[in-house]
Amino acid sequence: MDSLTRLFHSPPASVAAAPPDCLVIGSGTAGVTAALALVAEGYRVAIIEAGPFVLAEHVGSGPFAKQHAVVPELHDLVRHRTVWTDEAHAGDAAAGTLETNNNAWLAVGGRTLFWGGCTPRFLDSDFADWPHDAASFRPWYERAEALIGASGAGVGGAEADTAPDFIGSSAQTRLLARLIAAGLPAGAPPLGLDTRPVRNGSMSRGFDSSVARLLRCPSLGRASDGAALTISTECAAIALRRDGARIVSVRVQDRRDGAIRDIAARHVVLAGGAVQSTRLCLASGLEQVDPLVGRYVGDHLFVQAVLRLPEPLGHHAAYAFIPPLPERPFHVQMQGMFGETWYNPLDATMWLDGERDGRYLLYYCFGISKAPHAAHLALSDVAGADPLHRYYVVADRTPEDLATLDAMEQFTGQVASAIGAEVFRMQRHHAGAALHEFGGLRMGASAEGSVTDPNGRFWRIDNLSCMDAATWPSQGSANSYLTITATALRNAAALAGALRDAA
Ligand SMILES: Cc1cc2nc3c(=O)[nH]c(=O)nc-3n(C[C@H](O)[C@H](O)[C@H](O)COP(=O)(O)OP(=O)(O)OC[C@H]3O[C@@H](n4cnc5c(N)ncnc54)[C@H](O)[C@@H]3O)c2cc1C
Repeated sequence: MDSLTRLFHSPPASVAAAPPDCLVIGSGTAGVTAALALVAEGYRVAIIEAGPFVLAEHVGSGPFAKQHAVVPELHDLVRHRTVWTDEAHAGDAAAGTLETNNNAWLAVGGRTLFWGGCTPRFLDSDFADWPHDAASFRPWYERAEALIGASGAGVGGAEADTAPDFIGSSAQTRLLARLIAAGLPAGAPPLGLDTRPVRNGSMSRGFDSSVARLLRCPSLGRASDGAALTISTECAAIALRRDGARIVSVRVQDRRDGAIRDIAARHVVLAGGAVQSTRLCLASGLEQVDPLVGRYVGDHLFVQAVLRLPEPLGHHAAYAFIPPLPERPFHVQMQGMFGETWYNPLDATMWLDGERDGRYLLYYCFGISKAPHAAHLALSDVAGADPLHRYYVVADRTPEDLATLDAMEQFTGQVASAIGAEVFRMQRHHAGAALHEFGGLRMGASAEGSVTDPNGRFWRIDNLSCMDAATWPSQGSANSYLTITATALRNAAALAGALRDAA
């Protein structure tokens, strides 16, 4: 891939030589969605990405989809281990003596290379403590679904023609029929998976991935050639350099040779994922500007299980989704069919290849998450560690979380009996394990009690915005990808307008 990288990599010196309008930190769905939206509005955008270029599309959309032994090795090229813990162990985490218990990824495309594809929307009630309401967010969901070519139940909203489902097997029909007969309103899952027919020379795109969206953009090129959109790969933003209420430059380290370069930009856009965007702000001392930086960090409640049926369902492909209800603040995804198994986050698309005679269903239940002030990200003091890995997250489950987790476990038994299965194995995960983290740069309607405004723009720093889930005050049970993409579209549109107004 090294030689391919050379086709589009812009060394930081060439970016610094002609400062862009917007410097976007991170190339996951938040960063690329925002970057492409800003370029479409006529701005020059440079992306800084800490990870290397390893894949040009999602791992499930290409030949590696069938290489289940190789996929975890692909992860290992760009994966590192992190620590999520509770207050009781925070001291050990700070000293770096705690075992790592979680995964994080640094790559061109971020986690869009590997994600599992499930794209539900939040319920309207999930926006209750957000500074904008569900109705005003809905058009951004529609745009995000169109952008990623989403398919399945609920895509396009109530008014839309039903988007085609990705799975239509006899096993799927039987599974859904059993759930519905038991009063559980199950359907096909909404997926970030393009099911449009190949037509007029346009191929369908498979799993959405920001790396593919980036590479498809005709504006992408080298800074030295004056391209409107550039990317510097294996280059980490290590500090935001501030003068009063402005970021004057971003300190960027080339991870190939350690060289440091300061890049100025009219506006700086954080899109490193909730954890890394927050970590960078703390590493830059922004908690001195706003003591809420690093606070209100959370992740979904997560119960995982395997259900065993007495007999196979007659086909290998089944994927059921039981949506949340305001009174049942969690949803369920069930994938089959398999032999005896357990979900492997390093092969999140293993469900594409079930087994015809399999009797086991993978079961995931994600619950609503409201991070308290005490839940926070902090920098650890481990000498010699990679600066991007020198952090830990402290997030205790609240009494309300524990009650919801109890209900999620109880519901798992209910779902199992509805389909005539037994709960073969079940696990309640610690915060962080869902990989749906949010918070750290909480948004709000006023500068009191929040770090950014409703558009992700810092209240106390003029030219700094965040496009990812770091700004979210809470999250509904829905997996985060679609809402992050919608957030990035929304915040980028607001930023483009504000930059135009200020010109
Ligand atoms: C195995 C797996 C399965 C998943 N399944 C689902 C699913 O089914 N549905 C769903 O909704 N979500 C799923 N998710 C979660 C989803 O992938 C993430 O929530 C989402 O992709 C995060 O997007 P992001 O752009 O905010 O961050 P990321 O994808 O993490 O991208 C951030 C990028 O910024 C870069 N970066 C960070 N800091 C810096 C810095 N200082 N300088 C330069 N670059 C930096 C990183 O290298 C990274 O490439 C899954 C995740 C995983 C890992």
